[in-house]
Amino acid sequence: MIFDTHTHLNEPRILENLDIYLKEAKDLGINKFLCVGWDYVSSKKSVELANKYEEIYAAIAIMPTEHKSFNEKNFKLLEELLKTSNKIIAIGETGLDYYWEKDEDIKKLQKEMFIKHIQLANKYNLPVSIHCRDAIQDTFDILKEYRVKQAGVMHCYSGSVEMAKEFIKLGYKIAFGGVLTFKNSIISKQVLTTIPLESIVLETDSPYLAPMPYRGKLNEPKFIKKTAEFAANLLKMEENEFEKIIYKNSLNIFHVKTNEDDN
Ligand SMILES: [Zn+2]
Repeated sequence: MIFDTHTHLNEPRILENLDIYLKEAKDLGINKFLCVGWDYVSSKKSVELANKYEEIYAAIAIMPTEHKSFNEKNFKLLEELLKTSNKIIAIGETGLDYYWEKDEDIKKLQKEMFIKHIQLANKYNLPVSIHCRDAIQDTFDILKEYRVKQAGVMHCYSGSVEMAKEFIKLGYKIAFGGVLTFKNSIISKQVLTTIPLESIVLETDSPYLAPMPYRGKLNEPKFIKKTAEFAANLLKMEENEFEKIIYKNSLNIFHVKTNEDDN
């Protein structure tokens, strides 16, 4: 079984064929999805999907690149969502993105947003899904100073082995997606093969970042299987054995209880 720990099933291109995608994924054993919001509207959509589909869980947040829509009213509305579903299992995606942002004032605003999301996570005792792009040191510094009690997942992790170990010390899992399968992703492969198996989770970030051989295409939910195969192969493990451990890691970090047999 596979738990996709970061996906945007709430994105219009996925949404329009969602039932087909979910069926295709299910046929491959992909049976849990964390649908992640990037602003208030998409977060609300995540929650709607989680309330409708058993296999979907929701994460809500206003992500750093959406700083224009970050204000007190929207953040309050976001918090209100938490009262509408027991399937909101994380705050995310939140973090820092300096790739798209060079303006120092906006970087400062992103940090404030990030801290507010951490406080929200702690208020509701939830883990976080971290978005970090070109901002790894600041992300780490904030996560170290403002501890998330339930820690969370470093989504689409692109840092060094050393930094990965530091995040792991804080309790975080490291998520691998399609990028792992790209030929030039050498460090990502090093991270995967160096960190403990217990710290690994998988994701699609669908509809973005499709794995090989679909690179550049719409990343369909079922493509996570390609990443799983690729990772198991790199680790020289039986795919089943690998998936079993990774699935358990995902359930643990998001506190998802299941009546499946994998105790
Ligand atoms: Zn994402």
